[in-house]
Amino acid sequence: MGGAQPLQAVFTARSICGLDVTAIGCHHPCMATSTSIPIDQLRSRFRGPIITPSDAGYEAAAAVWNGSIRRRPALIAQCTGAAVVIAAVQFAREHRLLVAVRGGGHNIAGNATCDEGLVIDLSRLRTVRVDPKARTAQVDPGCVWGDVDHETQAFGLAAPGGIVSTTGVAGFTLGGGFGHLTRRFGFASDNLVGADIVLADGNLVHVSATENEDLFWGVRGGGGNFGVAASFDFQLHPAGPEVLGGLIFHPAERAPALLRFLRDFLPGSAEELTVFTVLRKAPAAPFVPAEFHGRPVIANLVVHSGDPAQADRDLAPLRSFAQPLVDLVTRRPYTAVQALTDASWLPGFENYWKSDYLTGIPDGAVEVLAAHLDSISSPLSDFKVAYLGGAAARMPDDSALSHRTFPWILNINTRWKVGEPAERHLEWTRSLFEDMKPFSAGKVYVNFLMDEGQDRVRAAYGADKYDQLVALKRRYDPDNFFRLNQNIRP
Ligand SMILES: Cc1cc2nc3c(=O)[nH]c(=O)nc-3n(C[C@H](O)[C@H](O)[C@H](O)COP(=O)(O)OP(=O)(O)OC[C@H]3O[C@@H](n4cnc5c(N)ncnc54)[C@H](O)[C@@H]3O)c2cc1C
Repeated sequence: MGGAQPLQAVFTARSICGLDVTAIGCHHPCMATSTSIPIDQLRSRFRGPIITPSDAGYEAAAAVWNGSIRRRPALIAQCTGAAVVIAAVQFAREHRLLVAVRGGGHNIAGNATCDEGLVIDLSRLRTVRVDPKARTAQVDPGCVWGDVDHETQAFGLAAPGGIVSTTGVAGFTLGGGFGHLTRRFGFASDNLVGADIVLADGNLVHVSATENEDLFWGVRGGGGNFGVAASFDFQLHPAGPEVLGGLIFHPAERAPALLRFLRDFLPGSAEELTVFTVLRKAPAAPFVPAEFHGRPVIANLVVHSGDPAQADRDLAPLRSFAQPLVDLVTRRPYTAVQALTDASWLPGFENYWKSDYLTGIPDGAVEVLAAHLDSISSPLSDFKVAYLGGAAARMPDDSALSHRTFPWILNINTRWKVGEPAERHLEWTRSLFEDMKPFSAGKVYVNFLMDEGQDRVRAAYGADKYDQLVALKRRYDPDNFFRLNQNIRP
């Protein structure tokens, strides 16, 4: 890839155990502080590009979605199939390399990359194969949700994906994953019926309800702690090709009344209907009246995936709540709805997130949310309140995914341009998060965590599931080889 390679390129890198071993509780036998990486040994077993810092494509390949993460791996091994994932795992083991695994690269904590180690990059693997009769799809680990939606919608089928089409399927599903179809069909991980996993010892195993059931329990919510998922099998459901969807904008002054309305309306609403409430400054978009550009607004991102006549009826109370600034809800292709907000979430910006499950939105919470809308520090930021429930809460509690019965989620997505001073954005985020603490359930969704310490990882699973995950980790990855994730310490 790119510039000339020395016959035997050698890099100096800290070993996996050279990195912060006390903090991560390393059990790996090696304690070497440095090692050299004989890349040609990897090349001889590998298919696909192996990118090093001297290669032309390095900067692009090393970057992840969150522009605040700037790490410099020694090697980026772009995999072309399970065999090379196995080769990369074995090579990293032999040479005691820190390993990061990259699916879609969207993780806010930047766990898809690392300093000095090896990135097992799956992003070139993007095939989706649909079996319309069985209503299943086999999905490669580098796919983003737009890939899956494109293929499955050809048959009027869908799996519950995320609300931005460029988000990776792999990290999303391994951590749970919710979106516009979750109230109807559960989390993405509820719809995972099988997966191929390359374990820390380099063996590949298939997991399903009848094979390696303990690991199947763990990969549905437990993240990348147990191995590299080389393939995913999803159950699909009829949805689309058109759904009712779009945004309804209201002025900020209406935020308290609208939030109070939503807390009463959503719990009893149809499961085909999803409403993500977005509080932000209005974009200078042609569809927003010019006098509101840059002013705080509250918008409902609405999707109804059911019967058209029913959809209109189910949405009527929300539409008649008050005269909006603009109502953009209309029938659209499901694939278009899935990409509706993509433009606001392009890669390459600084991002800082805080999130918690809420116990509800009592009046005190309404006040806090409305006050912080007025003081929002960046025109690129938003904070969202989502209500799940429905099938998300009803599905069997048979996986590592936790907190499904907590329907309210607060997600603060602070975002600003690279190079802009960060402090006021961090302060605003922390102050909103702190002020919402009285309404927090003390639980967090693992896929929205940054690098927030071990207590927060525990909060993502709860004590019982965390202990079960530790036992599983001890069984499948006692050396904590897969540690760049929301880490379950063995
Ligand atoms: C713009 C945006 C929108 C989002 N929207 C939603 C949403 O609607 N709903 C929701 O639930 N979440 C959402 N998220 C959060 C999302 O679920 C996480 O960011 C998730 O980690 C993304 O997965 P990825 O494959 O892109 O991430 P990556 O950064 O590639 O990986 C994330 C983690 O998973 C591990 N991993 C990745 N691939 C594999 C693999 N094949 N095998 C083993 N481990 C692997 C990585 O090592 C890392 O620890 C969103 C995130 C962003 C940035």
